[in-house]
Amino acid sequence: MRQELLQNPVFHMAAAQFDRVADFLDLNDELRERCKWPKRLISVTVPVKLDSGEVKVFFAHRVQHHLTRGPVKGGLRYHPAVDLGEVAALAMWMNWKCALMDLPYGGGKGGIACDPRSMSSGELERMTRRFTMEILPFIGPEIDVMAPDMGTNEQTMAWMVDTYSTHQGYFAPSIVTGKPLTLQGSAGRTQATGHGVAFLASSALHKQNLPVEGATAVVQGFGNVGSYTASTMASYGIKVCGISDVNGAIWNDNGLNIYQLKEHVAKTGSIIGFKDSEAIAPDELLCQPCDILAPAALDRVITGENAGKLRCKILAEGANGPTTPEADAILDARGDIFVIPDILCNAGGVTVSYFEWVQNLQRFQWTEREVLSKLETMLQKTFEKVLAFATKHGVSQRVAAQSIAIKTVADAKAQRGLFP
Ligand code: NAD
Repeated sequence: MRQELLQNPVFHMAAAQFDRVADFLDLNDELRERCKWPKRLISVTVPVKLDSGEVKVFFAHRVQHHLTRGPVKGGLRYHPAVDLGEVAALAMWMNWKCALMDLPYGGGKGGIACDPRSMSSGELERMTRRFTMEILPFIGPEIDVMAPDMGTNEQTMAWMVDTYSTHQGYFAPSIVTGKPLTLQGSAGRTQATGHGVAFLASSALHKQNLPVEGATAVVQGFGNVGSYTASTMASYGIKVCGISDVNGAIWNDNGLNIYQLKEHVAKTGSIIGFKDSEAIAPDELLCQPCDILAPAALDRVITGENAGKLRCKILAEGANGPTTPEADAILDARGDIFVIPDILCNAGGVTVSYFEWVQNLQRFQWTEREVLSKLETMLQKTFEKVLAFATKHGVSQRVAAQSIAIKTVADAKAQRGLFP
């Protein structure tokens, strides 16, 4: 593989994190190489007839990091900035996330470089269906199972199920997760990631002997993860004082009414202009005093520039890769912020995706209560495991989480041996 294909700042960040943990684990050179590099990089072009009649070609990628412990699992992202290196980084993080949660999966990620907000529903459907056909030889319930990510949703997954099932000649719901309930999606999947972020943030408050009721929070992003993080926090009695989206940020000292904010966003498409709130500069939002800061939008938003200025007690990483290695070094030196690293904090999504896949394979549906209660049990168990590892080895919670995960994958590779 030409390593230049992966030149991308997000991949460099994921690789730097891996190297640090591989050094800590003292992985031998063979396992280090086998764990670090993705198994398959798949790039396809996707020609789509636009509503205007013009044909546009989109570039799409799918990276399957490894298949040592099961099929790869990971989201499909529609965003203008998607490129192969970024997708490879996200696949690597998915890998560690699945291993940390002890799910029988490797990590994968995909994306199409496009601006979904400027495309009609028909254009998105044609693009999704054509992409599914282009990638068909490389996916399957035992090979690669996709799910929604930024810019995609349950409708996208419904089109993928339909395209794959039509090609197979039978209904195959286990090809993707995050589907609508009518197509055997799982109860609880839509809110799972945000629910998990809020649940772990409240567990972190308990660990620090801080009250949950009346705690304050700031959430960056109000899409799937951000909105359910905020609404679950609000249901615990946490005051979500600040929220941002791509258009700007809003603030209310007494806590924003999240249910009304969701209605406002459903009507207007943005958080901007919400009653009972004042505008605040998005950069300032992250540095406001609060108990919990939950970045739930983009990668690399906590940087060497702003990490020293954060005034939260808990950093609950809803997004993938929100904290750069430079920021990590500053947070480690500060030692006053309790970090719930991304591969643990946002693992609720892939865990309920796993529940959905299991339900599909068994042709059996669980209730929302069963799903969320199983999710909370698994998150709490892994949270305790990460904290115990960090304490025992005197490392940060990020290094602890990644160490448990990378060791799990390395051990599996060592035990399977090398073919031929
Ligand atoms: P989404 O597309 O539903 O929402 C993204 C949100 O981010 C939107 O509210 C958008 O307005 C906002 N945003 C974009 N640019 C912004 C900016 N500059 N400042 C503030 N807000 C901005 O995406 P999502 O599914 O909620 O994913 C968000 C993050 O969580 C991504 O990093 C994704 O990889 C990660 N994640 C998602 C899931 C999942 O189940 N959806 C699971 C694990 C991790």
